[in-house]
Amino acid sequence: MATAGQTNARSQTKDRSEMKCEDCWNVEAMYPSWEAWEEELKEWGREKDVPHWPEIGSFRAKWSGSVVEIRGLIELVLTIDRELSKLFTYAHLRHDEDVASEVPKTAYGRILSLFYAFRQETSWIEPELLQLSQEKLEQILSAAELKEFKIYLEKIVRMKPHTLSASEEELLAFSGNALEVARQAFSAFNNADLKFPPVVDSQGNTHELTHGTYQLYLRNQDRTLREGAFKNVHRAFSGYENTLCELLQGHVQRHVFEVKARKFSSCLEASLFPQQIETSVYTSLIQAVRKHLPALHRYVALRKRFLGVSEVHLYDLSVPLIKDVNMSMPYDEAAELIVESLSVMGKEYQEELKRGLTTDRWVDRYENTRKRSGAYSSGCYDSMPYILMNYHNTFNDVMTLTHEAGHSMHSLLSREHQPYQYSDYSIFVAEVASTFHEELLMRHLLNKLTKAEQKAYLINQRIDDMRATLLRQTMFAEFELQVHKWAEEGKPLTPSLLKQAYMQLNRDYFGPDVVIDQEIEIEWARIPHFYSNFYVYQYATGISAALALADKVLTEGAPARDQYLKFLSSGSSLYPIDVLKMAGVDMTSSSPVEAAMLRFESLVDELEKILSEKKI
Ligand SMILES: [Zn+2]
Repeated sequence: MATAGQTNARSQTKDRSEMKCEDCWNVEAMYPSWEAWEEELKEWGREKDVPHWPEIGSFRAKWSGSVVEIRGLIELVLTIDRELSKLFTYAHLRHDEDVASEVPKTAYGRILSLFYAFRQETSWIEPELLQLSQEKLEQILSAAELKEFKIYLEKIVRMKPHTLSASEEELLAFSGNALEVARQAFSAFNNADLKFPPVVDSQGNTHELTHGTYQLYLRNQDRTLREGAFKNVHRAFSGYENTLCELLQGHVQRHVFEVKARKFSSCLEASLFPQQIETSVYTSLIQAVRKHLPALHRYVALRKRFLGVSEVHLYDLSVPLIKDVNMSMPYDEAAELIVESLSVMGKEYQEELKRGLTTDRWVDRYENTRKRSGAYSSGCYDSMPYILMNYHNTFNDVMTLTHEAGHSMHSLLSREHQPYQYSDYSIFVAEVASTFHEELLMRHLLNKLTKAEQKAYLINQRIDDMRATLLRQTMFAEFELQVHKWAEEGKPLTPSLLKQAYMQLNRDYFGPDVVIDQEIEIEWARIPHFYSNFYVYQYATGISAALALADKVLTEGAPARDQYLKFLSSGSSLYPIDVLKMAGVDMTSSSPVEAAMLRFESLVDELEKILSEKKI
């Protein structure tokens, strides 16, 4: 079977042992060898002992809830957590270098089960703290001895009004595994059981259809292939619409149960409350995006014109409008370009990143046999940031590299400036630094490039990114909220109810110029994120915050940059909304989202201008 999207024959992929040292990440900086890792595991993991950490249990045995005791316990738990994280990071990086290699595979499994045991042996701490009286908890929060753990403790204490008695909490904990079933069943169905029929292109060639190839086919210039892939994927899900509806219902019912048990007013509130995010952040995102939907409608109309089709379908929305633009570059050139694009961040930031991407070897650059696919940024408190890449010189790879480098700089600065307990940033802000990097690279290239087709290609790519991150995820967020509201009102979810609602959302978002193919009505059934708990909106708020910050730093210069650096250095020492406010962007107002939508609009204008002037 031919595989579209992989037209270039690649030279034989090398074995891990053939990779050059300078192209591989510097994991030796953590442990010089597996023996050294074993030594440290012996000291901190104590695999054979049960319990592994009796010193944690001894706090429980003599527990009185005094300030001194709490401090001692937190310090102990954080120390063990920190050591295990280092052991874990090394094992998972080595594992991903060659996922079939025996030693790292076993080590990875061992450290995962230690983490599981650690969670078990510390699981009594939060409930025990929350059983203390409100008065006692307030004393704890204001105690000078616990000053450096204030926010850490506050995040736990916040849950007090939603915490039940010890025996009720125990009962809830027993239900935990059973309540996971809907999500697990969906995952098993989606990743293992469901198979798609192959798809035929305009030349009559048959192609294998999987989750991965589906995304490639949607960007393929062959319209027959795109249409076939779109229809085959959605029809496969349609065949199981009743089962998939019940699974989603099961998952939503879990949230409704927890809301009732813990006395929240809604599923949305319950999900946002721990991070101190108001539900209005969520609802005003939807309002602000909806207000600017005509910009998306215009973009769809523009696509219709420039694709030269009489009808534009949903499967025509991802294919690049500008073909055959060569924007590829080797790794070293990409690293240089990325550093150059960040000049507004100052010399120190640039130098640090430059070393990281080159001589300090944060990056595992190229593919080798059995290396984990994709890309990520990783690392821990006691290591440098690490970036896994499968760099193949494409422009997409350049964007991915700067994206991951953004995560890495955020991690590096937070780890450098914060104590361990605040060194990780929250999910709400996790995509800000990465998107900020992408935006600066885009703007840098748009200023630098002179050829109209290259500019148009970049703008087109940016518009499609924003459509996928800002607009599509907000549409998902709207659907997710609606489904939860119905469940809270006691309205049973049925396939026809969900399909109708989903169709309507597509009509609203894409507007009158697109043919809303019937198959799309089932799309909700294939989105894994609907089994996370109000997660997707954070993609949209994240990109909005990042664009606002990029704008601010570019127009206001050094003072705005210093504020932004402070944000990068803050980890989780503040609540996410506060940490963004400090950087200069207020996510409780709708203006960052509105500004992002205006940026989307101006990119559509620019693309339209270049394409109509026929400079290409
Ligand atoms: Zn990311």
